[in-house]
Amino acid sequence: MPQIKAVLGHVSVETAKRKRICSRHRKGTAAHDIVKDEDCLVVKDADGGKHNYCQESAMKILDRAERDLSSLRAGLGL
Ligand SMILES: [Zn+2]
Repeated sequence: MPQIKAVLGHVSVETAKRKRICSRHRKGTAAHDIVKDEDCLVVKDADGGKHNYCQESAMKILDRAERDLSSLRAGLGL
């Protein structure tokens, strides 16, 4: 049987080995870094850029992704 196509290959979870910038909170009053040993969501752009997101941002991104997946299912009547 052919393999099922994976479409979320550009999204993964990594544990920071050193400080990383949180892409959602890089500026302003909520600005903060992702610290060493913190788990973060990593999203790779088509151009090879990597964005790291803290737990709070990851939750919002994944919540939105779940809604998007639900609408795709609904669109197909699944
Ligand atoms: Zn953050």
